[in-house]
Amino acid sequence: MKLLLILPRNERSYWGTVSRSGKAGFVRLNLPTIAALTPKDWDVEILDARVTPVDYDAKVDLVGITGFTAEMPSAYEIADNFRKRGVKVVMGGVHVSALPDEALTHCDAVVIGEAELVWAGLLEDFKKDSLKQKYKSKKLCDMKNMVIARRDLLDKKMFSGFYTMQATRGCPFNCDYCAVTAFFGNEFRVRPIDDVLTEIQGFDTDEFFFMDDNIVGRAKYAKELFTRLIPLKKTWGSQASITMAKDPELLRLYAASGGRYAFIGLESLSQKNLDKMHKGWNAAKGFNASIKKIQDAGIAVIGSFVFGLDEDDSSVFKTTFDFVMDCKIDAAQYHILTPLPGTVTYNELEKSGRITDRDWGKYHTGEVVYKPQGMTADELQRGYYWIFRNTYSIKNILKRSFRTRKDLVRRIAANLSYRKKALKMPDVLEV
Ligand code: SF4
Repeated sequence: MKLLLILPRNERSYWGTVSRSGKAGFVRLNLPTIAALTPKDWDVEILDARVTPVDYDAKVDLVGITGFTAEMPSAYEIADNFRKRGVKVVMGGVHVSALPDEALTHCDAVVIGEAELVWAGLLEDFKKDSLKQKYKSKKLCDMKNMVIARRDLLDKKMFSGFYTMQATRGCPFNCDYCAVTAFFGNEFRVRPIDDVLTEIQGFDTDEFFFMDDNIVGRAKYAKELFTRLIPLKKTWGSQASITMAKDPELLRLYAASGGRYAFIGLESLSQKNLDKMHKGWNAAKGFNASIKKIQDAGIAVIGSFVFGLDEDDSSVFKTTFDFVMDCKIDAAQYHILTPLPGTVTYNELEKSGRITDRDWGKYHTGEVVYKPQGMTADELQRGYYWIFRNTYSIKNILKRSFRTRKDLVRRIAANLSYRKKALKMPDVLEV
């Protein structure tokens, strides 16, 4: 039996694409994990539709597709084409879990939520020709003895971050615009540290990335994990919450264990915005001092900001830009508020009739798909381009990067890669 797993594409997005030199960013663990969950009597192939054209006449028994919301038009097109040829298609992932009935108009079965506990049963049903439409586990998977993703099915040369892994799942918070808690549940789960270390010891490079939504979500676990990572002498990064700045011991261990950088969702400098999105614990007033503490510990901060929240007017871009430059944030990621299905933000904007565009291909956080409150859609779009282009001008990259000489080359390289994306955006002179 042959299973073809496909990662769809989105050409509109600035993120998750493959560069002209053929490099993508971090490996996404979804399909390699599904491959690892598949019994040995299946022949499994992973096809990355971002770089490999799909051969619809290939001899396959079952196709599996997963993707983000912005990749859904491509996912559905691929699914429709296989089904026209009589091949059954299964879909899963965050978008499909939020809108399973929409997905079922393009495929034969969907996995809602985590696949670990239902995937083998789905394949058994397929073999017996009794595939059900919806597969949903009644409980969350236990993170003990998790399978190791089948990285051997990927083209290693394609990724700048090949070794990605998970130590925890979920997040102790539940911010309105984020799908993490809706997908992984309210429970913050952790993997046995022995299992995490065993997986890391199998990597043939010194660098890896924790794909966790918040690696410091449970400080006690994080401290133990970091302590045990120290002897491995690896270098790593992850997503983390700004709350870690309050715990000097946590910061020390993060850095001592090789944690060189952290993606931190700062989101907004307006406390009203943060409170409204149920991220009030992210105290805007303390951002500056917290960033400094994290940087002083030897950890670079990649701050993430969302524009178009209800308290934002068109001055938000200039204010945020000044903040990024004053704090000398090592890199910044900017997003236009995007109502992703399955989130509170989606439900609220939908209810108030503010969603203006339902082309999922535009839901990559770089295009306006709803009616903002404090500025026009055009101001929001132009402001997004303006701040990206300005943050990543050569002059401003150097101003921020020279805050310290430690890891200077790595920091400049990361900024240049953001600059490449910024240069694809229109040049807006004024906001
Ligand atoms: S802290 Fe981050 S990962 Fe957690 S719910 Fe909020 S946005 Fe999502």
